Amino acid sequence: MVLAAAAGLCWYGWTVLDAARAGDQGAEGASMKYLVPGLSLALFGLFLLLAPRPKERFRPMPTADLLVALGSTPPPFYVCVDCRILLPLEAAMGRCPRCSSAAACLEVSGPGDLATVRSALGG
Ligand SMILES: [Zn+2]
Repeated sequence: MVLAAAAGLCWYGWTVLDAARAGDQGAEGASMKYLVPGLSLALFGLFLLLAPRPKERFRPMPTADLLVALGSTPPPFYVCVDCRILLPLEAAMGRCPRCSSAAACLEVSGPGDLATVRSALGG
């Protein structure tokens, strides 16, 4: 989504730039040459600053709360036993988005996996 937005902004910028080149070659065209890509980059940077980051999206939970959440969440999902966070399947894909560990990010797809995670959490 971020890349699509950036690509769209750049495409729009280059389109306007080409129109400026085809028409007026004076000072107005020259200022457009730098204004549009600069504005596109500024908007893209602002989006990156304001977009939620994985580290902020998944906050560590107290172990007791995590154990309760494990019992009430339908599998499949992932649990990072180092960060103590529960991750939706599409958010983890085998690797914790917070600490980037694949070893600590355990997939829970059934009761056996749930027991493994509970013992890893010490619960
Ligand atoms: Zn982690």
